[in-house]
Amino acid sequence: MTGTCRLCEKEKELKKSHLLPSFIFKWKKEQETGFFRTSQNPNKRVQDGLKLYLLCADCEQRFGLWEKQFSEKLFKPFHDNSGTKVKYSEWLLKFAVSVSWRNLIYHKMKNGFTHLSDTQRNLTEEALLTWKSFLMNQTKHIGTFEQHIFTVDIIQSYQGHGSLSPYLNRYFVGSVDFDLLRTEKACLLYSKLNKLVVIGIIQQPSKDYLEGTLIEYPTGEFRPRTIYIPEQFHHYFNKCANQVAQHLSSLSDKQWASIGKSYEKDIDRLKNSDIFIATEADLSISGQNAFHVLKSNKDKDKK
Ligand SMILES: [Zn+2]
Repeated sequence: MTGTCRLCEKEKELKKSHLLPSFIFKWKKEQETGFFRTSQNPNKRVQDGLKLYLLCADCEQRFGLWEKQFSEKLFKPFHDNSGTKVKYSEWLLKFAVSVSWRNLIYHKMKNGFTHLSDTQRNLTEEALLTWKSFLMNQTKHIGTFEQHIFTVDIIQSYQGHGSLSPYLNRYFVGSVDFDLLRTEKACLLYSKLNKLVVIGIIQQPSKDYLEGTLIEYPTGEFRPRTIYIPEQFHHYFNKCANQVAQHLSSLSDKQWASIGKSYEKDIDRLKNSDIFIATEADLSISGQNAFHVLKSNKDKDKK
């Protein structure tokens, strides 16, 4: 298909690009049972991720180089060992901007930012231009449109306020997801690459909105550290986890049987997998609700 490349704006043959980097989908297939869902379209057994005609071959290749570094130097080592420390250079910010930029382009194509405030809509256009110049090596600065990265992992026990979704741990370790989030004073891109979350800031209410998560440029170190993220994320994660659980509950018996079979086939490997450990943690925190979340919804649908 010929069209205008969203990045270099040249009229060219366009490639069907992955909205989220393709290595994640390959990696997921190698892991566990190759079975995972997003809260966006959990009904579909997502094997290969959402694809759009966005980029020409040159720009796709540009993204590919940063993806390769991210995958090999951070994503895979971290998923093998969550204590991993990684000294990074330019590639991390380039990669994060490329992910947030694609996420934002998708939402622009989908709904034109109609649900944002006027201020946020203006900032969004500014962010798109700033990130594009950065990706094209026309500027080294992204100003206030910062990129952040933090990790989510299995919660073994919980004594905090409010309740946790009985599906939360499985959402944390098993889902790939993306969204454009807004409140009255905040607007950001959320890209969940399994246990690594990339946040692209459009608008933040204060300088200390997120702490310990900023991606530095040109160099920095990724390591386990204390971070502060707003309370709203807690609610958001619960919502996403419940959404995935609800969609799972709408699967047919035939679909459940096929999932069961793929689990059985690989039971030894599965026992050491994140998804298995996460299921146990969900059970230990939420008791039988960890399963009832599926069953009760299913019953509700029948009525
Ligand atoms: Zn291009």
